[in-house]
Amino acid sequence: MDHTAGQDPHAEIREEVRKLCSRFPGEYWRELDRERGYPTAFVNALTEAGYLGALIPEEFGGAGLPLSAAAAILEEIHAAGSNAAACHAQMYIMGTILKHGSPEQKKQYLPKIATGELRLQAFGVTEPTSGTDTTALRTVARREGDNYIINGQKIWTSRAEHSDLMLLLARTTPRDQVAKRTDGLSTFIVDMKAALGNGLTIRPIRTMMNHNTTEVFFDNMVVPAANLVGIEGKGFRYILDGMNAERMLISAECVGDARWFIEKAVAYSKERVLFGRPIGQNQGVQFPIAKAYAQMRAAEALLNKGLAKFERGENCGEEANMGKMMCAEASWSAAEACIQTHGGFGFAEEYDIERKYREARLYQVAPISTNLVLSYVGEHVLGMPRSY
Ligand SMILES: Cc1cc2nc3c(=O)[nH]c(=O)nc-3n(C[C@H](O)[C@H](O)[C@H](O)COP(=O)(O)OP(=O)(O)OC[C@H]3O[C@@H](n4cnc5c(N)ncnc54)[C@H](O)[C@@H]3O)c2cc1C
Repeated sequence: MDHTAGQDPHAEIREEVRKLCSRFPGEYWRELDRERGYPTAFVNALTEAGYLGALIPEEFGGAGLPLSAAAAILEEIHAAGSNAAACHAQMYIMGTILKHGSPEQKKQYLPKIATGELRLQAFGVTEPTSGTDTTALRTVARREGDNYIINGQKIWTSRAEHSDLMLLLARTTPRDQVAKRTDGLSTFIVDMKAALGNGLTIRPIRTMMNHNTTEVFFDNMVVPAANLVGIEGKGFRYILDGMNAERMLISAECVGDARWFIEKAVAYSKERVLFGRPIGQNQGVQFPIAKAYAQMRAAEALLNKGLAKFERGENCGEEANMGKMMCAEASWSAAEACIQTHGGFGFAEEYDIERKYREARLYQVAPISTNLVLSYVGEHVLGMPRSY
């Protein structure tokens, strides 16, 4: 199986990423998984190679590559058995600053994000009480002179302990004083290093996989008004703008995971001999792997269609959402087939399958859950009544 061959414009990048990942084998990820550590050496290697600045335009020191190149990078990382969750946000959160930030903000932040001098890894949107119902969030930013004073809480703010900056969504006008519930929300760039201990508290959350996620608390945290992105009250739109890109990049990671699981399952099914023949000769073993492969290829085609539309500046909401759902389901089918093919060995840490299995499950829930994708399709693609 080599679906990267042929006319792939990113074949060279893929090969370089594969080479880089080969320096970080299973043992590296296993050890981090055990101690819930952060893959600093891996993230540094990606940063030095310029991959995390892939989408930053050249005028700001980035590689100025298209979204499909970023997707190829993330897919290869996952196909190699590595995990980009420690740093993928660095690729897409900066899109909000690039598109809606002031010239000063772009000059101040983007070149340093491109070199890795500043890490923009933390994205503070989700809250414990509002969850998916983003416009009901309760974190409040109150203007006082040249500053905003921020109070509230976020949850699942991944990588907060390993980031210098956070892109934060907070309410600047109460929900009952705006015409539309999506109004009155604003986006801020938070200097986390300055705020830590000065109104900002971070608490790690231990999860079933190694994801370095946290909850963060704001207690009269001061953010200079100069750190407001764009216009006050329009922040929800700025965040939404970046979501299709985020969904497609996560989809690419799912395709990479699916490739890893399928490759492992195929290899093992050929070498494990029982009852006098390789287990892969039994169609009961072969078919779930073949089915996961077919699912992956279909999901990948949808993703590629979305990426092409994005790069042409067309609306790719349908493909980005459906692709995200199908890529996450394909990687999960592949994970199931892989663990089942390996029998008991699938559960042994040293095979890496149980680790990847735990990691792959997330993407049916985050960054958007399957139900919310379906409700997007029902409402925006098929024109059925809005359900919430
Ligand atoms: C490991 C991890 C990392 C994350 N990283 C980040 C991050 O860095 N930054 C960030 O802001 N967020 C992050 N998230 C949050 C993630 O985006 C949310 O968990 C996800 O959007 C779902 O929200 P929720 O957990 O609040 O679930 P809820 O909104 O409480 O939903 C619970 C369930 O109900 C379903 N549901 C809700 N409403 C409806 C409806 N109207 N119709 C049908 N079904 C519905 C959902 O689909 C879901 O299955 C992360 C989450 C995890 C677990």
